[in-house]
Amino acid sequence: MARLVVVSNRVPQPRQRLPQAGGLAVVLADAVKSGSLWFGWSGKCAPATATAATLQEAGGVTYATIDLGETDHRLFYTGFGNGALWPMLLFRLGLINFRPEEYAGYRAVNRAYARALAPLLQPDDLIWVHDYLLIPLAEELRALGVDNRIGFFLHTPFVPPAILSALPRAAELLGSLCAYDVVGFQTRGYLAAFKDCVTQVLNVEVPNIQSPNGQADETVCFSHGGRRVRAIVDPVGIDADAFSRVAQRAVGSPETRRLAASLDGRALAIGVDRLDYAKGLPNRVEAFGRLFEQHPEHRRQVSFLQVAAPSREDIGDYQSLRRQLDRLVGDVNGRYSDADWTPLRYMTRPLGRRTLAGFYRLARVGVVTPLRDGMNLVAKEFIAAQDPLDPGVLILSRFAGAADDMAGALIVNPFDADEVAEAMHAALSMREEERKARHEALHAQVRRTTANRFCEVFLAQLQRTPRHGGIGHPAFAAAAM
Ligand code: ADP
Repeated sequence: MARLVVVSNRVPQPRQRLPQAGGLAVVLADAVKSGSLWFGWSGKCAPATATAATLQEAGGVTYATIDLGETDHRLFYTGFGNGALWPMLLFRLGLINFRPEEYAGYRAVNRAYARALAPLLQPDDLIWVHDYLLIPLAEELRALGVDNRIGFFLHTPFVPPAILSALPRAAELLGSLCAYDVVGFQTRGYLAAFKDCVTQVLNVEVPNIQSPNGQADETVCFSHGGRRVRAIVDPVGIDADAFSRVAQRAVGSPETRRLAASLDGRALAIGVDRLDYAKGLPNRVEAFGRLFEQHPEHRRQVSFLQVAAPSREDIGDYQSLRRQLDRLVGDVNGRYSDADWTPLRYMTRPLGRRTLAGFYRLARVGVVTPLRDGMNLVAKEFIAAQDPLDPGVLILSRFAGAADDMAGALIVNPFDADEVAEAMHAALSMREEERKARHEALHAQVRRTTANRFCEVFLAQLQRTPRHGGIGHPAFAAAAM
């Protein structure tokens, strides 16, 4: 059995594999099994980027991390990664702030990662890279002579050619993505967008997407730069049964009981997000205000808890989002609060998984309304946490990857505050039979696409790639489709 090498930008401290806010962190905690090597940034900045990794062992996993130089980190992470690449992937062209020196820094950090990782590799290792911050890593490893099988999974959305082309150096980045043997996307739509980009931006002929097993498991194979690339759909999921058990137990926890008591018989609506402009939090707060305006019968009958863990706090766009949200929450609360009722409760600290699970289970409505999202695991967690005998209702943005296979939710356009307010009204008024029927369908779906399945599908695809991935290799013909 080949060893698995997982690469992500952030690697937690061994024994501190506490879930952080963020889908990638949660998924990786499931993917990294005993016997694996986990490589990435230590989370620490130093005067200069380290040239060799520091190794630590824990629980059968080898953690290999490097410190990044302060300037390198700024150019790579705050600069190109989150100031240009992230907004482009989220369709927010107006927020792209491209600086050539930051792009150079982004590539230089990927080169440094490759140099520190290459000496740790064994010939048969399967390398699985996560995170849009590491798109050029395979190309840098190949330049050092690494011919292992290397896969990449994109946790964010992918964009159509017209959006991609707005980012300077987009063609170069897209070419870098084609240095992987397998590239995975969350949804069929993102895979189709990738195919269109490769066709139009790189002028490469790409055949139609194949669906060997009907709807799932779509793949497309093409050649670029002397290599074969296989692009696949592999939706990220959660361990739904384990999460359900945590939620059941959490109902009796002191935190959940305190929340239940504070509601005083009112319904709870809940939103749980990183504080990111992709999540549509200002729009959501506005829609909640609209609910009270248009349906005054819900005043005093519902409390909305928004948990928003701060993210990328050193970036200006995130600071202004936080200020905007503080003001909007204040507006709605100022307008509708009573002395003994506050419509919106707003917390900006992350909660533990057990507490979150208990809160979801208590909620009558889960509000997941990102303006654009890779998958959105919160939607799946909310469904897994419900009591099947008295389930809550999920309101889900049509622009979340999860909307692709969660049709039992109330699907909304997050930009339309009236539509979201109407969905909140429908959810709060929904009869038990309809809630149960919707939940049953959604729960079955969430149980099908688990975290384990996500890893198995991806690694099976990577494993079937020939070791020497060049298209001239005879092994290739057999594995090409
Ligand atoms: P993203 O990866 O963009 O943050 P996802 O919905 O896919 O969005 O994943 C978010 C993950 O982080 C979920 O597992 C969720 O439970 C967790 N999370 C998000 N916000 C918080 C928070 N405020 N406190 C604790 N966990 C959080």
